[in-house]
Amino acid sequence: MQLLKDDVEHPFRLQCEQWKMTELILRQLKTLSNVRIHFNAQVKDVLQDQQRVQLTVTHEHTEITHQGDYLIAADGAWSVIRQLLQIEFEGFTYPERFLVLSTEFEYADHLPNLSYVNYCSDPKEWCVLLRVPSLWRVLFPTRVDESDEEVMSENSVQGRLQHLLNRSQDYVTVHRTLYKVHQRVAKTFRQNRVFLAGDCAHINNPLGGMGMNGGIHDAHNLCHKLIDVLLNGLDESHLDRYERQRRTIAIEYINSNTARNKKLLEETDPVIRKNNQLELTKIAQNSKLAREYLLKTSMIDALERAEAII
Ligand SMILES: Cc1cc2nc3c(=O)[nH]c(=O)nc-3n(C[C@H](O)[C@H](O)[C@H](O)COP(=O)(O)OP(=O)(O)OC[C@H]3O[C@@H](n4cnc5c(N)ncnc54)[C@H](O)[C@@H]3O)c2cc1C
Repeated sequence: MQLLKDDVEHPFRLQCEQWKMTELILRQLKTLSNVRIHFNAQVKDVLQDQQRVQLTVTHEHTEITHQGDYLIAADGAWSVIRQLLQIEFEGFTYPERFLVLSTEFEYADHLPNLSYVNYCSDPKEWCVLLRVPSLWRVLFPTRVDESDEEVMSENSVQGRLQHLLNRSQDYVTVHRTLYKVHQRVAKTFRQNRVFLAGDCAHINNPLGGMGMNGGIHDAHNLCHKLIDVLLNGLDESHLDRYERQRRTIAIEYINSNTARNKKLLEETDPVIRKNNQLELTKIAQNSKLAREYLLKTSMIDALERAEAII
């Protein structure tokens, strides 16, 4: 990442789990006098006209209505707001699911040259080994013919971990998660006074770590435009640029790169695998190519690409 030292102020990769990020954001929001936070409030309905948006939520069995100039729907992949607005979530769901196992076992003591993030391509069973401060997270694809119970059984969990690194003892796992993986983008990111952002607007496979990062880029892009319209007198049409910029990035960049990353890991053809390795080696050995590659994987060139969209 040092190759990016002239491009960014922080030329390193920060492994920050989302629960830590949300705690930091919460702490920051609490310092702002114009922010109110309502936990355990479930969105039930949304209505809008030319002037306002009205949001109905239930909180402890009571219905409450909020009104505002605009609404940002950031309610995740299963967004109720997106569904209420009948905005299509175009794309597909992969037939296999992904299994994430977290363990305190120190892989770095046993596997040489481990990085904090390791994408391990393998024609039979690829995996991702990712270090967070106290744990290693190991991500495996599952077979389409395995049931959830089979995948989550002790036998299968130990089998996968032992296949990765054989040892005499069983592995102790701290978390086990099995989930479906999608590549989907909402048909529109704006419906009048409502904007979609984050997973509500686009979801992708986690290979490349672009989901949360893409959501943060959405928030950054949209909030600046809202400030320009609400406080700095820019025309309302300025807000349409949010969709033009961020939807293009979600399709052209986030979804296509994560899909390509998956193909790279799971490739079985030995000739294509060899060519992929040669290509990556060539990039790694050439600092100009490596810098361009890092600008892409760290999503910096996507910001530049978005900015160029009028
Ligand atoms: C295994 C895995 C690994 C990943 N790794 C990475 C990574 O390394 N880097 C990366 O950038 N991304 C990663 N992602 C993706 C990342 O987790 C998501 O992109 C991110 O969580 C999306 O944030 P969000 O705020 O848009 O949605 P969410 O995190 O889903 O938050 C939505 C919120 O809305 C709330 N909500 C939902 N419905 C309602 C309702 N009706 N009323 C009120 N509230 C509601 C939910 O409770 C939730 O709090 C990974 C994802 C997975 C599954």
